[in-house]
Amino acid sequence: MASDQQSQEARVLHVLSFDVEEHFQVSAFWSDARRQQWDRLESRVEQNTLRLSDLLAYAETKATFFVLGWVAERHPGLIKALAKQGHEIASHGYGHELVSNQTESEFRDDVRRSKCILEELTGKMVFGYRAPSFSITDRTPWALPILVEEGYLYDSSIYARFQPSKKVGMQTCAQEIMTTAGPIFEIALPTANLCGIQLPTPGGGYFRLLPYSASRMFLRQFEKTGTQFVMYLHPWEIDPDQPRMEGSVISKLRHYLNLERTEQRLQYLLRDFAFAPVADAIQPIRDMCQARVQGGAAPCAVFG
Ligand SMILES: [Zn+2]
Repeated sequence: MASDQQSQEARVLHVLSFDVEEHFQVSAFWSDARRQQWDRLESRVEQNTLRLSDLLAYAETKATFFVLGWVAERHPGLIKALAKQGHEIASHGYGHELVSNQTESEFRDDVRRSKCILEELTGKMVFGYRAPSFSITDRTPWALPILVEEGYLYDSSIYARFQPSKKVGMQTCAQEIMTTAGPIFEIALPTANLCGIQLPTPGGGYFRLLPYSASRMFLRQFEKTGTQFVMYLHPWEIDPDQPRMEGSVISKLRHYLNLERTEQRLQYLLRDFAFAPVADAIQPIRDMCQARVQGGAAPCAVFG
């Protein structure tokens, strides 16, 4: 009985994703003054991302890397290497400005610029987008149609509070949303209902906050219903030696909590569960990505 249950659970392929940005680019420490200093602050994204790729190679696991265009311009070899290793390269926008702080025109420029940089570097189409700090909300109803118009097939910027127009199926975290510009898949980050309160499930800071046993329990709950989980982390979350930034007590607590424990927890996670990139783990998206590639559109073709 127990082994039957384990083999049933082992068939669930979860999504593993990383948002590739510098430790000083996070929204919690954002200020216009700091933005002006980005090129003078200590860069640690390459060494941290390489450590992640080593962990993934050891676990024989591929992931989706949502990369900032700003980072890709400064570390082109890193992005090329990730793509060559078989990881999916997707977009985290260009400059890490919250979507809710941008105009429609600024958002379009941001997602277009990053997509083009990444496609030119890797020679492969970019299909996915994740907004800084999951900042696509009901205050930015124009964001998803713009992503469709710019050639994106899926978005992963919304905690599962958004009401989809159509569910693809109960066995997947992907939901198809019909926008004014056409359909797009939303890879929602799931929430868990605890006593009537919707709580984010472990990724990022929540993964660092909770003991690993709690994260494992969450994932096993997902597996009992055959539901795919969406895991996300940042390269700076496995870097306890990163320089400390000035900021509010809450921001510092959130950003620096348990950094020294994250790498080992990730190793446990890769040992205990099966993961893949979005474009492999989710069947409808895999089909659409393959169809787009077979259609022969060149990288950056959507904007000529
Ligand atoms: Zn980010």
